[in-house]
Amino acid sequence: MAITAKTRLVVLLGDPVSHSLSPLIHNLAFEAEQLDLAYIAMRVKKEFLDQAIAALQSLGFAGANLTIPHKQAAIPYLDELTDRARVVGAVNTIQFKSSGVDLPARLIGDNTDVAGFLSPLDVYREKLAGSSVLVWGSGGAARAVVFAAASELKATRVTIVSRSAEKGREIQSFIEQRSTTDIDVLPWDESATAMAAADLLVNATPLGMTPHIDSTPCAHPGLLHSGQIVYDLVYNPLVTRLLEQTAEAGAMGISGLEMLIGQAAAAFKGWTGVEMPVELVREALKDRFMKQK
Ligand code: NAP
Repeated sequence: MAITAKTRLVVLLGDPVSHSLSPLIHNLAFEAEQLDLAYIAMRVKKEFLDQAIAALQSLGFAGANLTIPHKQAAIPYLDELTDRARVVGAVNTIQFKSSGVDLPARLIGDNTDVAGFLSPLDVYREKLAGSSVLVWGSGGAARAVVFAAASELKATRVTIVSRSAEKGREIQSFIEQRSTTDIDVLPWDESATAMAAADLLVNATPLGMTPHIDSTPCAHPGLLHSGQIVYDLVYNPLVTRLLEQTAEAGAMGISGLEMLIGQAAAAFKGWTGVEMPVELVREALKDRFMKQK
């Protein structure tokens, strides 16, 4: 649709943002659904975040996403948090709730990473109830994954494999207070047994991401086996070294592309009330990665 005086904006705030695929995803979906919205990305330095968020409210934006380094820093500037944002302790989406004509919208901080992570696992929910989950990494994405595994997938045990024991233990105590799942934290060199026993293994580190495509979090590929699900949150490249190891072992692999699409679809639904055309977006993203090769 052409941009007119009626077009409203949705924005990604982060630093950096130039690599983001969110403008591609959402503008394609707005166009396909004939919505008079446009999505832009803006680099905002940490010290201007409060001003940037206040401006979104006064300029009547229709929605926003937040990325590194603003996912936690934005919380004090929002009016409310959804339960899932509060529990994960990070916001990647802002919903603007109308307070009435001529009043500023209320800003609701949401976290759609949990929904995005879970979307390709929906078909395995039954298999994963009471399962054992291993998560490589202890950053922001790992926190959403551990929460999802404990609270939504009802895993019996989650093992966090982290090079920073302190960060791993921080997630452990936070999630253990909110679920009955047992959470362990292990260094890489003590994780072989947990790896072999896990039903679902999740890479929540950047290991394997372009340009370091030969790296992998899996130090013992011989321990991977059929029946396991290996989910790599890295989506560039589409087939990472970890997903190659997964296929060689006869295990089931899931690409981070699915989480990327799932978190975008949940945000899109919140802003517009309309389902995102997921298949159209998936094909466009795959096409984009193929062209990059
Ligand atoms: P983050 O907060 O920076 O956390 C990264 C984690 O990986 C930290 O625990 C870090 O350990 C660990 N790590 C980094 N390099 C490592 C190495 N060489 N060896 C061992 N551990 C290492 O990042 P994040 O936001 O959680 O994102 C993690 C990954 O998930 C990224 O690749 C990101 O692209 C991906 N992701 C994908 C989606 C999606 O939609 N598919 C969504 C969110 C994130 P230290 O704390 O010790 O540095």
